[in-house]
Amino acid sequence: MKNGSILIIYTGGTIGMKRDSEGVLRPFDFNTIEQEFPAVRNLHVDISICKMEAIDSSNVTPQRWGELAQLIAENYHLYDGFVVLHGTDTMSYTASAISFMLENISKPVIFTGSQIPMGVLRTDGRENLITAIEIAAAKDSNGYAIVPEVALYFQNKLFRANRTSKQSAEALSAFSSLNLAPLAEVGVNIKYNHSVIIHPQAYFEPLRISDKLDCNVVVLKLFPGLSPDMLNAVLNTKGLRGVVLETFGTGNAPTADWFIEALRSAIERGVAIVNITQCQGGAVAMELYETGIRLQNIGVMSGYDMTCEAAVTKLMWLLGKGLSGKALEQAMSNPMRGELSR
Ligand code: ASP
Repeated sequence: MKNGSILIIYTGGTIGMKRDSEGVLRPFDFNTIEQEFPAVRNLHVDISICKMEAIDSSNVTPQRWGELAQLIAENYHLYDGFVVLHGTDTMSYTASAISFMLENISKPVIFTGSQIPMGVLRTDGRENLITAIEIAAAKDSNGYAIVPEVALYFQNKLFRANRTSKQSAEALSAFSSLNLAPLAEVGVNIKYNHSVIIHPQAYFEPLRISDKLDCNVVVLKLFPGLSPDMLNAVLNTKGLRGVVLETFGTGNAPTADWFIEALRSAIERGVAIVNITQCQGGAVAMELYETGIRLQNIGVMSGYDMTCEAAVTKLMWLLGKGLSGKALEQAMSNPMRGELSR
């Protein structure tokens, strides 16, 4: 008897790449992956495969996130779970965006990929794919999905997708989630961290997708030496609606008048500014130092411990829903998909 049915959605990335005669990594025809990787057939899970145009994930666009969300929604009633094979470079952005775009999710959507191409003997893609399938199909004794979330599986750890960042271009443990414990750790057994996994309030609500994103958003990373001209050039970008401001430490920024005035004037023009820390772990706490208090006083919103990937996709999603002002600030500062701790 089969343990469930899974749709694998292949989107590109190293996991589906081979070297051509010149040694350059290029996407290969996805249909050959079953020949490359026959072990997937031996799992006791019904597996279907669906292919999007294979791209290097550095070319991903918000439009493609919409297509992926649609694809999952169209197939949602047909499968117990989904595995999305994606390039690692922007996997955390795509997976964060999908976590916001899928509303009322009660089935697993597990992103994975690999650092070493599937066509290479020492590939990490093999284990990543097999375990991602197992997790996507895993059910509790009542028949409910154990991980009814958008998650990312890589190198023995399952993370909430919107808590992850790519941390290494070299290590096989390519992803980190420094502000949230893994949803599962994989050794001899898969150990689920049940207290961290989010369950839907109602299991039988239909899935909805909210795929309208407003991309008039920019990420601005502070650094000593940022000039007034550069800052104003960014903040005066035509059509700008939102800024994810990567600040120092616990949300600190220069107190210089030109800096504060530039931000204040953008906020007055209706631009939403969200403060996240450029540190990999920890959270924004603007009330701690004068250098944060000045931001708070002019209406900069706290992004708490959100990753940049979560903050930018959440801002696009909320602006796309038409939120602004206080409603936007409230939604930004509350966890919508477990993306921040408060
Ligand atoms: N450049 C590749 C991509 O993100 C890297 C990878 O898959 O790991 O598509």
